[in-house]
Amino acid sequence: MSTLRLREVYPRLARTIADLLLADPLAATVDDLPFLGPCTCSAGCANLLTAPPGSASPLPMTLLRDGKAVLTLSLDPSGTAIRDIEVLDAAVLG
Ligand SMILES: [Zn+2]
Repeated sequence: MSTLRLREVYPRLARTIADLLLADPLAATVDDLPFLGPCTCSAGCANLLTAPPGSASPLPMTLLRDGKAVLTLSLDPSGTAIRDIEVLDAAVLG
């Protein structure tokens, strides 16, 4: 099991997520998010996993930058943890 953190692999992405979450309590969780690699559910899926595959609930949270959707976060059922990240705008990866 990887012990990498998202902010070590994609520092710009992690910073962007925290910035766009503003005062949302989820912002405080970004620094400690693990990075478990890209999702392998299908050939076309480019989601980044921050929890084991299959643990994301259908609770999406889309983040906007300058009015444009750049990221969609999948949260756990309680809405308090980010389980995977769909990158809609590759510019946020840096
Ligand atoms: Zn997937």
